[in-house]
Amino acid sequence: MGPRLLVSRCLGFAPCRYDGRQLQCELVDALRPHCEILTICPEVDAGLQTPRPPMNIHRCAHGAIQLIQATDQRDLTAQLSEFATTSIPGLDIDGAFLKAKSPSCGVDSTPHHLPDTTTVRDSGLFASHLRQYFPWLPLGDEVGLEDPETRHHFLARLFCLGRWRHSHQEELPGWLEHFHRRHKYLLMAYDPKRQKELGAVVAAAGRHPDASHINAYEYGLRGALQAPVTRGRVINAIQHMAGYFQPSKQEKEAFATALRAYQSGTVHTEVPLEHLRDWNTRQPNAYIEEQHFLMGLSAVCRNDSPLP
Ligand code: SF4
Repeated sequence: MGPRLLVSRCLGFAPCRYDGRQLQCELVDALRPHCEILTICPEVDAGLQTPRPPMNIHRCAHGAIQLIQATDQRDLTAQLSEFATTSIPGLDIDGAFLKAKSPSCGVDSTPHHLPDTTTVRDSGLFASHLRQYFPWLPLGDEVGLEDPETRHHFLARLFCLGRWRHSHQEELPGWLEHFHRRHKYLLMAYDPKRQKELGAVVAAAGRHPDASHINAYEYGLRGALQAPVTRGRVINAIQHMAGYFQPSKQEKEAFATALRAYQSGTVHTEVPLEHLRDWNTRQPNAYIEEQHFLMGLSAVCRNDSPLP
């Protein structure tokens, strides 16, 4: 069973858009077999009809936002805010993939109309509430996740939290040590300080962690996955993994070139990782092979754009 992913319902699940349409999204289609999907339409679930007049977000001078229907200037802010604040606390999810540019669902992609008639891009009302309530949650929309690097890290975090949910529920002896060992380099790539702190939690917990260990680990894990991605940290984790292999001079040079290209932003994380996967097929290393940062993402995560 994969991670629990909240998806905007109009992305292939119901014709609930303001204009009565339903959209298709390749990434959602690709994720469907790998995730437990929950859908939401914050506008219809809040009681609005389909079709309905389009809405815009207006931001006043002191920063407050209003959702206003374009045709009759009806203010729907209270109705939609109430839905968000009452529904979000009950969500038990590992990530959210929402519809871009929507006044409800957009993630950093929705136009906010300012009093001086200009616009800025920010999030829709529901997406903003979701981010505020679950700051650790992998959250993206189709526009943001078009970027292969952003998509890679969104998926890496989503699937990591999904694995946490399932390891945690199974609770076999030693499950926490096992989880931590297999995520060592993934955590190092995001937040090396927290990776070490989590190691200390695991050491204290032993093979039978109690609720306090589990809570401390979950808190630290979410914090680590929330850390901003920096190329320096990702490279550090990749170089640590590379230390387990003995590549030829030529392979070393090609790998160094890939790392430089990654550092300069011309290729994304998958390019240097591919070198390690290639080395591992010829010099299999059991410890590296179980690292989710290298091998654990499902095929859907590993592929470059376009996703299958
Ligand atoms: S963008 Fe969000 S609110 Fe709009 S139709 Fe899709 S799911 Fe519903």
